[in-house]
Amino acid sequence: MQRFPFYMDIKENLNRIKATLPPGVTLVAVSKTHPVEMLQEAYDAGQRIFGENKVQEMTAKSQVLPKDIEWHFIGHVQSNKIKMMAPYVSVIQGVDTYDKLAEIDRQAARFNRHITCLLQLHIASEETKFGFSADECTQMLDEGKWKDLQNITIGGVMGMATNTDDEAQVRREFGRLKELFDTYKQKYFAGSADFNTISAGMSGDYELAIEAGSNMVRIGSSIFGERNYNLNK
Ligand SMILES: *Cc1c(COP(=O)(O)O)cnc(C)c1O
Repeated sequence: MQRFPFYMDIKENLNRIKATLPPGVTLVAVSKTHPVEMLQEAYDAGQRIFGENKVQEMTAKSQVLPKDIEWHFIGHVQSNKIKMMAPYVSVIQGVDTYDKLAEIDRQAARFNRHITCLLQLHIASEETKFGFSADECTQMLDEGKWKDLQNITIGGVMGMATNTDDEAQVRREFGRLKELFDTYKQKYFAGSADFNTISAGMSGDYELAIEAGSNMVRIGSSIFGERNYNLNK
């Protein structure tokens, strides 16, 4: 479902995508597997928010690239890797247990920092996607222990739709994410400006996600081209 012909002109790709984003939609440039030179090119074109899904790789890149980059971790969060990214990460998308929230809080405190977390919700029909079920998430929020965590902010939700050509299904899944966001906002975060993000949509489905209410898209291959995982293993 690649939308655009593939150009290696990262700046042009970025500009073309940005022109399709309504105001208020944040673009996370997903740079996983790509070399720092390509990230630097995107940076030089004005991009400041990058998403990575391996902690080691993100950390290595963060050490050589400009310090005003906002790093978003978009992979599956492993508790033992949180301390490695705690000194610099801005947003950890894809938090799917209370214990991980608590560990992020603990590590953020050690570095005297504040880290925004998004709650990953399992909206796809595929088994392999991580995330809270709606019930698990509601239960976690009901228990209320998260309110004591001083060094994190729950900034919203994140989700991934099923990888399918069935547009109706994808729309339904993104719609479900928006519905859960609205419910949580009303029930647990009313009056808090911090709970404001719906992170949904990738290269192949971001227009559908935006139509359903997403205000943060995570786009990789339409900016940087196809990923070759073998080169990086
Ligand atoms: C890789 C990845 C993306 C970007 O996918 P593209 O199809 O390359 O745009 C978005 N979100 C997550 C969680 C990813 O792992």
